[in-house]
Amino acid sequence: MSQFKSIKVTDYYELSRFERIKQFAKHKPTPCVVIDTEIIAAQYDEMTKNFPFAHIYYAVKANPGAPILALLHQKSANFDIASIYELEMVMAHGVSCDRISFGNTIKKRQDVEAFYERGVRLFASDSEADIRMLAQAAPGSRVYVRILTVGNDTADWPLSRKFGCQPEMAYDLLVLAQSLGLEAYGVSFHVGSQQRDIGAWQVAINQVAQLFTRLSEQAGIKLAMINMGGGFPANYLDKTQALAGYAQAITGYLSQAFPETMPKIILEPGRSLISNAGVLISEVVLISHKSSDSNERWVFADVGKFSGLIETLDEAIKFPIVTDKHGPLGACVIAGPTCDSADIMYEHYRYGLPQDLAIGDKLYWLTTGAYTTTYSAVCFNGFPPLKDYYL
Ligand SMILES: *Cc1c(COP(=O)(O)O)cnc(C)c1O
Repeated sequence: MSQFKSIKVTDYYELSRFERIKQFAKHKPTPCVVIDTEIIAAQYDEMTKNFPFAHIYYAVKANPGAPILALLHQKSANFDIASIYELEMVMAHGVSCDRISFGNTIKKRQDVEAFYERGVRLFASDSEADIRMLAQAAPGSRVYVRILTVGNDTADWPLSRKFGCQPEMAYDLLVLAQSLGLEAYGVSFHVGSQQRDIGAWQVAINQVAQLFTRLSEQAGIKLAMINMGGGFPANYLDKTQALAGYAQAITGYLSQAFPETMPKIILEPGRSLISNAGVLISEVVLISHKSSDSNERWVFADVGKFSGLIETLDEAIKFPIVTDKHGPLGACVIAGPTCDSADIMYEHYRYGLPQDLAIGDKLYWLTTGAYTTTYSAVCFNGFPPLKDYYL
């Protein structure tokens, strides 16, 4: 028995789809990401099937590729947007403003003014200064306040320390918003991206329910909406439950917390819609050893932390990697091509790559459709940004 986990493509893609991606990329310069938009369409349908009551706002930051925006526009999705630049990308597809939420709690006044001028009326917030600015720059708009959540330690890519405030403060901010002429519309949270503990939603939903009750009873404010963010899983090496398991549990938490009428529910999936649709194709540039008696191989790829694989920071996201070689697996460190020693993807987690792997062979990084292309540096060491193709 090999001590290394062998990775089967068919655990991640239908073989014919993977072969089609490989064939397409055969003569393309590496590195590049090839994204099968039919997989995204299927994932979107899966999301709406599992959460039939929810309004889906695609988190554009996961991948703003034009074919993705066009597809989701055609499917009547809504869009969670974090900057004026994303707004322009989305509006270029003809998306109307009532399908857009400005979900970033950190925003410049001039950008809020530009959103408002175009017709956007839905904004996230988590601080007093921002609420006061919104009241002036986007008068009368709907505002939802983001709360901090637990679950940072069970999310592979935590998001909730930087954004959100304590529920106590959220109460005050919603009261303030209403008093300044904004519409106190709801509460949001994000339990952390690639959240493996479904219980994280329960804790957050219960906090939200308490806020709904308190605002209604003590301030006469009837909130209408819960924005439950993202956090739904993609298929990486560390397994999670299927989306249906998440949906069933979360729907149960919601109906327990809101037994009479369920508020309007917004979901903002990014990773779970897009990741599984992409394969990053790279080439082995060098295989070396650090001393003549070491049998630990260093495998250097032509892609790294600065060309799209930033989520390997602290080895947080473990992308499945496959090759065209079939030899027995052996230990290796996997690193990128730049002259920065942070550019090592996996050193502690022991990936086994085939012992007959050679310079020039391809490495296929699975589940890389989201949070890769846009995280790529523009020109570090002169390497161009990661190229993307859409099938
Ligand atoms: C990044 C982000 C998302 C998407 O999260 P995933 O875990 O990728 O689905 C959703 N909402 C907000 C506010 C975000 O910042």
